[in-house]
Amino acid sequence: MAARTTIAGCASDIRACVARREYAEAVRRFEILARLLRPRDRSDVAADITQRGGAAAGQALAKAFARAPCYLCKEGRMTCDVCGGASTFAANGRFCETCNGAGHSPCLFCGGTGFLPMENVPRSIVLPAARMRLEWTARLLRQVVRDVSNLSREGATPSPLRDWIRLFHAAERIQAILEDTLPALATQDGGGEEHARSEKLADECDRLARKCRRILAAGILKVCRAKAQTEEPGSQRRIMWERQSDYYEPLARGSSS
Ligand SMILES: [Zn+2]
Ligand SMILES: [Zn+2]
Repeated sequence: MAARTTIAGCASDIRACVARREYAEAVRRFEILARLLRPRDRSDVAADITQRGGAAAGQALAKAFARAPCYLCKEGRMTCDVCGGASTFAANGRFCETCNGAGHSPCLFCGGTGFLPMENVPRSIVLPAARMRLEWTARLLRQVVRDVSNLSREGATPSPLRDWIRLFHAAERIQAILEDTLPALATQDGGGEEHARSEKLADECDRLARKCRRILAAGILKVCRAKAQTEEPGSQRRIMWERQSDYYEPLARGSSS
């Protein structure tokens, strides 16, 4: 369906997209309208949507921006373009030094948040969008905390390395989201109860995400060191595991932010 080009039409399209969780599509429709109506100032168009489309339309637009995924990556990670995500080179068996054999790295566009950067959010809805993104992040973090405690319990069979790494990336992503969201929460002179609540939630999330990341880095470090020991000294695979250990060692100590 073509994007509608009136404020009322677009507002109802945005609400429908958000109800279907099609956040990127909702943002796309807003951008089309904004470019058409005010090529230079998109923020006014967001205010118009709220004013003329009603509070529910404003909420839907804020939610669309809060949840719209980054254009370039998946959940904040980009495939390494040197090794194409393979970690090693088929031609010579060497591991990729660009990504340290990880196969991917944090996305340069969104800074690893996996979301549209906050600076792309129209000014008049920055605060509600930032709060919604924070609430979402807190829910992700609760899941990560549960998974980390399950992993750390570690029964007879140790959990596979990829489970640790997946959670480590989730914890890194949470920190990246907080870094991107906090200035948006702080610059708004909201004050009041809700503002205090957001700040408290953000602090709590930051503290927990750091703790998770430290625990996960320690778990990964242990596995990497053990794997290095099983490889021939001087072999590519041993060097790779040693490099990975060097990467996670300071993170496990918590000496790097
Ligand atoms: Zn690579
Ligand atoms: Zn990205």
